Amino acid sequence: MADTSIEWTDATWNPVAGCTIMSAGCTNCYAMRMAARLEAMGVEKYAGLTRKTGGRAKWTGAISLDQKALTIPSTWKAPRNVFVNSMSDLFHPDVPVDFIRKIWGAMAGTRRHTYQILTKRPDRMAEILSGAGFAILPNVWLGTSVEDGRVLYRLDELRQVPAAVRFVSYEPLIGSVHGGKLDGIQWAIVGGESGPGARYMDPIWIDEIFDQCTRAGAAFFFKQWGGKNKKAAGRAYRGRTWDDMPEVRL
Ligand code: SF4
Repeated sequence: MADTSIEWTDATWNPVAGCTIMSAGCTNCYAMRMAARLEAMGVEKYAGLTRKTGGRAKWTGAISLDQKALTIPSTWKAPRNVFVNSMSDLFHPDVPVDFIRKIWGAMAGTRRHTYQILTKRPDRMAEILSGAGFAILPNVWLGTSVEDGRVLYRLDELRQVPAAVRFVSYEPLIGSVHGGKLDGIQWAIVGGESGPGARYMDPIWIDEIFDQCTRAGAAFFFKQWGGKNKKAAGRAYRGRTWDDMPEVRL
């Protein structure tokens, strides 16, 4: 039973919360809105992470490290796919390397789970994970988010990351990623933006990604069309759903 509505995972795990805007894909950041709501509900971990500006919640830049959360995956007995840090970016510059090392320890100690980590900072991910104390874990998939052609360089940075599985999330897809190459990347997720202020996704941009996957032999996962009513828009592409996952080489 999934604990999250995110189609490509079963559960979220948030040892870190808080972030700062990085690029156009962050404009309508779900985590930023959700952190404000959680703070209003009195959840201590989210206190001071956002403030209201022009009627909208904005990150303050504060980062919260949740030591107690480190043991949560060990309490899940059945294997799960776990999205790490849906409420932050694990490779934000203010997340200490020592804390990332603790997260690696928690994942190494619970190999029954598959961990999915997404960052908009794959340069820092590559630098840290190439250093001492970080083994390649077969149960950890490492990915980057790319929202349009302006940040395609993140794919090259991701290719520098030592990983069992590399993946890209093209969500929210707000522009063409024509020319992107998926060599060395095993999985691509595609999704349109949803919620307030959702931006348009052109079907041609999806075709471009579908072709990238075919050329590189990467698995293709179509998450959603998005828009104001994402349920009504659905998730069929070319007349079917696409839920492919990467093959794991152990
Ligand atoms: S990097 Fe991710 S968590 Fe951070 S502001 Fe951007 S979308 Fe939100």
